[in-house]
Amino acid sequence: MYRTYLSYKRMMEIANSGGDLYIRCAGKVGKNLAEELKKLELNITAFLDVDYQGLKYYNGIPVLAPETVYNKEKGTFFIMIAVERNDIYDAICEEYNKHGLVICEDFADFSCNADSRMMSFMDLCANKSPKEIFHTKAVERFEEMRLINPAFCKEIPDNMEIIPNLDVPLTTFCSLSCKYCSHCIPYAKPPKHFDYEQIIQDIQNIISVSFVVCLAIMGGEPFVYPDLTKLIKRYKEMKIDEKVGYTRIITNGTIVPTDDFFAEYKKLENAYIYISNYGSKSKKLTELVDKCKQHQISAYVCPETDAWLTLGDFAHKRNYTKKQIMHLFSVCDARACVQLLNGRIYSCPRIPLLNEDKLIPFSAKDYCNVRGTSSQELKNALHGYLYDTNYLDGCQYCDGQHRYSRRIPRGEQS
Ligand code: SF4
Ligand code: SF4
Repeated sequence: MYRTYLSYKRMMEIANSGGDLYIRCAGKVGKNLAEELKKLELNITAFLDVDYQGLKYYNGIPVLAPETVYNKEKGTFFIMIAVERNDIYDAICEEYNKHGLVICEDFADFSCNADSRMMSFMDLCANKSPKEIFHTKAVERFEEMRLINPAFCKEIPDNMEIIPNLDVPLTTFCSLSCKYCSHCIPYAKPPKHFDYEQIIQDIQNIISVSFVVCLAIMGGEPFVYPDLTKLIKRYKEMKIDEKVGYTRIITNGTIVPTDDFFAEYKKLENAYIYISNYGSKSKKLTELVDKCKQHQISAYVCPETDAWLTLGDFAHKRNYTKKQIMHLFSVCDARACVQLLNGRIYSCPRIPLLNEDKLIPFSAKDYCNVRGTSSQELKNALHGYLYDTNYLDGCQYCDGQHRYSRRIPRGEQS
C-alpha cells in the first residue's frame, strides 16, 4: 500500500519521541519484523497476540493481549501489523477501527518482507523523471516480446516521445465481470462498442508524433467486438503494425474468434495473442491456443498462478494531500499503461472509463486530446502531458499499483 511511506514516518516519529512500538502478531512474519527492527536499533515494547497466555515471551520481548493498547493515550504508541493472510489483516483492521484507531496514525500494515520494504523505500526516494520511467518500461516491454519471439528486435527512436504501452479498448462489453477489473469494465454504464474507423484515426494521430512500443488491442473482451476483423484489416492497410514496436490482442480466453479474423491477424508484423488465464472461467483457452497454432500465430498464456494487485475501490475519495498524491503517482506502476479512450489519452488504465462515464468527478486535466489538433500541437501537448504531469485528479480515488498493493484472487467475479 502507498500508506507505507506515511506509516514509516509515523512509526519513526513515535519511536523518536519515546513512544511504544508494538507488533501484532507474534507469528513468523512478526518475528522476522522484530529481527529486522532490531538491526535498525529500534526497540519493540511488546508483541500483541490473542495467544499471549501461551506465548508469553519471544527473544526477551513480552507477548501481551491485543486489548493492552486500547486505553493508552493516542500518539504514544504505534502498532505494526505483521501477518501472512489478508483476511486476518482485514479482521484486525476492523477491530482497530471499532476502537477508534486510525490507519497510518496508530497502526499500519508491515506484513511484507524486508526486501520489498527496502525496494519500496528506494522507489520512494529514487525521484526518477517520467522520461526515465517510460524508458525503463519501454525496455521491459521489448524484453517481454522477446519471450514470445526471441528473434524480435526493434530500435527505440531517440527523436520521439516513447509510449511503452498503449491500451486501446474497442468495447466495454465483456464476457466476464471481474470484481477487481483494473479498467473498471463491469462498471461501464451502459457498455458500448467504439467506432473502428475513429480508433484507427486516433492511433494514427498518436503514432505520427510518438513511438508506441506495445499497442494492446483490448476490451472489455475484444472478441465480442463486431468490427474486429475490419479493424485489423485497416490496421494493416495503414501499416500501423510496422510503425509500432509490436501489437497484441488481450483476451480472457472465453471466446474463439472467426477464421476470417485469424486470416487477417496473421498478416500483421510482430503480433501475438495474449490470453489472460482465469482458470476454469477461460472456457475456450485450449481451443483458442489450438486455433493460434493452426494459423501460425504466436500466443502467450498468462500463468494462472499470477496474482492480481488491487487498486482499491473508486467509490471513496482518499483525501491525499498534494505531496501524497504526487508521491503516489510517481511510484504507481500503472501510470506507464497509457490508454486511448474516446479520442483522449490517459496516463493510467483505470481513470479513463471512470472519467468518461463520470463515475468519479470528471477532470479535463487528466487526459490529453488526440483529435482535432495539428501534429505539432499534439506533439507539444503529449510531451507536456506524459512528462510534466505530477498527478491525475482521479488518483484521489485509487490506492495505486506498487510493491505494497494487496494481492487478490485472479478474475474473481462480481
Ligand atoms: S475479463 Fe475481467 S479483467 Fe478483463 S476486461 Fe473483462 S471484466 Fe475486466
Ligand atoms: S489512478 Fe493514479 S494511482 Fe491509480 S492506477 Fe491510475 S495513475 Fe495509478
